[in-house]
Amino acid sequence: MLTRILEEFSRETWETMWLTHSAARTSREEYFTERLFVSLLSRARHLTHFIPFPPHKEAINGADWEWWISDGRHWIGLLVQAKALDLKHQRYTKLDYKPRKASRSQLSLLIEDATARGLTPIVACYNYSPSSAFAWNCLSIARDNPLFGCSIIDAVVARHLINTVKGKPKKGFSTVAALSFPLRCLTACRGFANGVGVAQRAFGVLEGLRQKGVEQGHETSPPATLLDTPPAYVRQLMDTPPDAQPAVTADLVASLRIRRGIVITRETDDDSE
Ligand SMILES: [Zn+2]
Repeated sequence: MLTRILEEFSRETWETMWLTHSAARTSREEYFTERLFVSLLSRARHLTHFIPFPPHKEAINGADWEWWISDGRHWIGLLVQAKALDLKHQRYTKLDYKPRKASRSQLSLLIEDATARGLTPIVACYNYSPSSAFAWNCLSIARDNPLFGCSIIDAVVARHLINTVKGKPKKGFSTVAALSFPLRCLTACRGFANGVGVAQRAFGVLEGLRQKGVEQGHETSPPATLLDTPPAYVRQLMDTPPDAQPAVTADLVASLRIRRGIVITRETDDDSE
């Protein structure tokens, strides 16, 4: 079920990016991120907890959302930043975006926060490309370009790519795609770990992203952490009815400083397809 939703979301994103090619370029990230949350909530309400955070006035840590993936036995926590491809130039123009008042790029803030909290930082990219020449790293299913409407890359690999290459920063679609996987792989692909359960599959795919980085000589995130129990605050949020959440989240909102909120998806293998 989760995989199907991520696949449909990716296809829709690919198509919508293309259809709105010439439309205003403002905040496409927020639009597509919102659509992802709506897809999960409308189609997999029983598998999804979404804890929205109110808009922040202060600087934030660079994360659009925190995502916990679980099969009920294992848990894995991601910190995600979303970036839309600039279609005209086929580049992730804002990949190294630094807010005016911030001392570091959003990507660095994301990585620092994830490191401090034991989460894995990734960038979720929203894409459309007229080219079919980009890498298709998924080993489980044949190339299906619209499924690349949302792709993921290890945030440390992305930063290394930008910072260490001399001359123009490497932010081109095909360069980044060569180090990325389709989003749907996160819950679906068994190729990297003997993926019993969605958390282990996600762990395996994150490992696959690290390997891609290593192969091409990039710095990477440390291996992801697979937990046997969720952190106390995640458990508490899951046990709190939506009406009572604002009271519980008030402290979290201030300390975590995530833009959109926390998503928890829990799917046992019995639930999947
Ligand atoms: Zn895959």
